[in-house]
Order: sequence, then structure tokens, then C-alpha cells
Amino acid sequence: HAQAVMDLGATICTPRNPACGICPLRDPCKARATGIAADLPAKAPKKTKPTRLGIAYLVRRADGAWLLETRPEKGLLGGMLGWPGTDWTESAPPENPPIAARWHDPGLEVRHTFTHFHLRLSLRLALLEDGTPTRGRFLPRQEFRPANLPTVMRKAFDLAQGAWPED
Ligand code: SF4
Repeated sequence: HAQAVMDLGATICTPRNPACGICPLRDPCKARATGIAADLPAKAPKKTKPTRLGIAYLVRRADGAWLLETRPEKGLLGGMLGWPGTDWTESAPPENPPIAARWHDPGLEVRHTFTHFHLRLSLRLALLEDGTPTRGRFLPRQEFRPANLPTVMRKAFDLAQGAWPED
């Protein structure tokens, strides 16, 4: 039976052009009887993904070290390295910089789509001589590999190029 139904779907009752006139099921078929065969299968309405907003703080120290933090084990990008940032929320989150600095807002935004939402991540940039972060740690320049970052964090790094305050 299963094979017969699959064959019917592949050859006669095709989604775009059901051949009701030669169909062995035309008599009991409710779709044909009610005249909606051509409209089936009905497409499920596309779910619109929500958009979340966040801020990522990119900090470069004078010796070339970068301020990065390991994300919590649970949750998106769990356990991965990333730029310190705010939560990702449906309305604009309050600023939450990880270190005291003169922050530069380049007006840039990373756009990235996860399975369940779109993310718009604003960037804040800072160059500083030194300082103690409230979270994250400075990674020496020679240990920093942008390719090791998850895609959204790497996008933030790439987007920031050419936008640093000294440039
Ligand atoms: S009669 Fe029903 S089962 Fe047969 S092709 Fe038409 S819609 Fe498909």
C-alpha cells in the first residue's frame, strides 16, 4: 500500500498538477469532489523569525591583545570564544561595556541569522593602553586567530576593520 501511494504521488497525484481524470482514487477523493485538488497541498505559512538586538564590544590593547570571553556552556555558541557583549534581546539592550574605555560607535551592525531568530549586533570599539576588564580576558596577539571565532563573532571582527578610532 505504501509503495502504491508513493507511486500515485510521483506519477498521478503530483503536487502541482494532479491528474484526477486518470486517477484510480478519483471516486472516493474528497479533494476532487470539493474542487480543491489543484490547491493542495496547502503551503504552511512561513513563520517569521523574530529579530534580536545586541551590542558587541571589541577591545584592542596597545600591545595587540584582544579582549575576549568564553561564552557560557549553556545557550547559543556555548563554550565558544567571542567578544564580550550584551544579552540579545527583542528591544535595544542597555550598554554593558566590559571595561572602562573611550568607546567609539562606528555605526556598524553585524547581521546574522540563527535557526530561530535574526540577530542585529551593533559594534562598539575601543583602543586602550591597559585596564582590568569586568569580564573576559585579554588574549595575546599571537594567540588570537579570527578563524577560531564563531561566524557571527568573526563577522564583527571583519566589519570593524577600517573603523577603528585611529583609522
Ligand atoms: S483524484 Fe484525488 S488523489 Fe487522485 S489525482 Fe486527483 S486529487 Fe489526487
